[in-house]
Amino acid sequence: MNTQQLSDNIAKVRLRVRESAEKCQRLPETISVLAVSKTRSADAVAAALDCGMRRFGENYLQEALEKIEQLAGRGIEWHFIGPIQSNKTRSIATHFDWAHSVDREKIARRLSEQRPDELPPLQICLQVNISGEVSKSGVLPEEVPALANAIADLPGVKLRGLMAIPAATDDIAEQHAAFKKLREVFDELNANGAGLDTLSMGMSGDMEAAIAEGATIVRIGTDIFGPRQ
Ligand SMILES: *Cc1c(COP(=O)(O)O)cnc(C)c1O
Repeated sequence: MNTQQLSDNIAKVRLRVRESAEKCQRLPETISVLAVSKTRSADAVAAALDCGMRRFGENYLQEALEKIEQLAGRGIEWHFIGPIQSNKTRSIATHFDWAHSVDREKIARRLSEQRPDELPPLQICLQVNISGEVSKSGVLPEEVPALANAIADLPGVKLRGLMAIPAATDDIAEQHAAFKKLREVFDELNANGAGLDTLSMGMSGDMEAAIAEGATIVRIGTDIFGPRQ
């Protein structure tokens, strides 16, 4: 993809965010676009950075670490959004700003312990399994309050909100229903004083529904960088 196409794609994504927000009387500035750069080269990330994208999401640790090193000092905010096994926590805690896919207390504890002292706490979301997700990842909705409680006081991580990857569907009503479920878990936590501000939900195919249901971060890969191989 050339730079012009990339820049057009990013403009289109921004326009969709703005229009979706306005449709439901939300402020577009309250929704941020995470550019999902898995499988893309460091050059592609640099080009998106030149188009004004600042937040990038990665799923595969090894690949991400190479890009993070190549693009060091460019002011990128790196978000880990892939499954987190115990043997990955040290690298994630060291090299990322956010992790969206925390679904176990043990992982949160390791991230907290391994977060370097000189860095601010790692910003985290709990991944919730709201609709019989394709992957087995994610804590069940009814288990979220206990998990949120268990990790609330860990010094090296800061719980910001919830994330989900509902099963892909073209059915708009189903998209809304899944995101609404996550939103309800979120509202209930906040009603009990959790103080969360982040709902990470919505991808290229369903960002409009996610924004209508309250997304504050949409994670967009294909519609920015083109189809993945
Ligand atoms: C790949 C991926 C995305 C982006 O998906 P697109 O459909 O390409 O926009 C978002 N979130 C997660 C967790 C992903 O793995």
